[in-house]
Amino acid sequence: MSLIDLPVLLAVFVLGTIIGSFLNVVILRHNTGLGLGGRSHCFACGHQLSAWELIPFFSFVFQRGACKHCRSRISAQYPLVELVSGIVFALVWFEFPPTSPTHAVTTLIYLIASSLLIVMAVYDTRQKIIPDSFVYSFDLLALISVFVGGATWWHAPYYPTLLAGPVLALPFALLWLVSKGNWMGLGDAKLVLGLAWLLGMNAGLNALILAFWLGAIIGLAWMFMSFGRFKARLEIPFGPFLIATFFLVLFSHWLVFDIHTLLELFRL
Ligand SMILES: [Zn+2]
Repeated sequence: MSLIDLPVLLAVFVLGTIIGSFLNVVILRHNTGLGLGGRSHCFACGHQLSAWELIPFFSFVFQRGACKHCRSRISAQYPLVELVSGIVFALVWFEFPPTSPTHAVTTLIYLIASSLLIVMAVYDTRQKIIPDSFVYSFDLLALISVFVGGATWWHAPYYPTLLAGPVLALPFALLWLVSKGNWMGLGDAKLVLGLAWLLGMNAGLNALILAFWLGAIIGLAWMFMSFGRFKARLEIPFGPFLIATFFLVLFSHWLVFDIHTLLELFRL
């Protein structure tokens, strides 16, 4: 059996959903003073969850999204994060199977980096901020990936990739500076630093461009749907878009703009 056969991928998916339920706890308890230990319980009635109710994703489906005891609705965030974590884990494994000790390092780096990205995407959506502890851990991991691990479809671990981080993060830092934090948070620049170290200059630039497209489409759709209903200032966090298009480019190998083709076009 090969490392990317279906039974192996299914096992990695299940592992991902288990990690996902832990990520939910991290997202929920960050900055609340509560530790990460202790059994989970229903927020409405305090009923401690049984082993059966702790099964990621499937327990939500079988309980039809409500607590068994008090029938109060369970937030869709829980099964969503678990499902996305399972899918992302399986895709990371498929993209970077641990075929050698060197490649296993890459597998591990991307599994941990993806977990941090999922946490940051949800946290940014809920709280409109990316905590430093999450983004700095992510940046450190991305920095390490520049020097160690196996080759990927877009680049081999190679020190010039070191430049991609600051070069691609700089415009975001400038946007933050010029707008005094209104258009872009400094957290976005810190996030781009790590994303660019993981993807390199070419694929990284593509992920950023796609994030602006996605952000514009969602922003316009939002404005259209809420037209005339309320005049609240539109505040859509940009982090989730950056993270979504990072995964899109990473797994699809899709390059809308290939820097190399452009350079050839202008004979540079
Ligand atoms: Zn309950």
